[in-house]
Amino acid sequence: MCIFCKIVNKEIPSNLVAENDDFMAFHDINPKAPIHILIIPKQHVESFHEVSGEMMAAITPFIQEIAVKTGVSKTGYRVISNIGENGGQEVKHLHWHLLGGARLAWGHFADADAKDFF
Ligand code: AMP
Ligand code: ZN
Repeated sequence: MCIFCKIVNKEIPSNLVAENDDFMAFHDINPKAPIHILIIPKQHVESFHEVSGEMMAAITPFIQEIAVKTGVSKTGYRVISNIGENGGQEVKHLHWHLLGGARLAWGHFADADAKDFF
């Protein structure tokens, strides 16, 4: 069972923000912004690439509610889902990073020089 499924089953603890029958939101253990929350489906889906349109439709208002609840909806925020190796996905259970609370940096070639690719 993957680490996020264990969090869903309460086999390992999390710093919970909200949950309903289908989704959970909890604080990232290694925050990269003042607000860094992970939002996951309780059902195990490997990544964004496997998610159904139906689940996407359902998780969208849940993510919006978390943004309101944490106050970042007023100041702006970022929602990211890393996919696979090049996307930097470490946990193979679909999750959205909700980041906010400060002006966020924007730079996606952290481990390489962009000019090498073009
Ligand atoms: P990703 O690299 O997109 O797969 O992101 C995985 C995220 O999960 C990272 O930001 C980790 O800090 C976070 N993480 C890993 N284990 C836990 C945990 N037990 N509780 C909360 N966050 C976790
Ligand atoms: Zn899982």
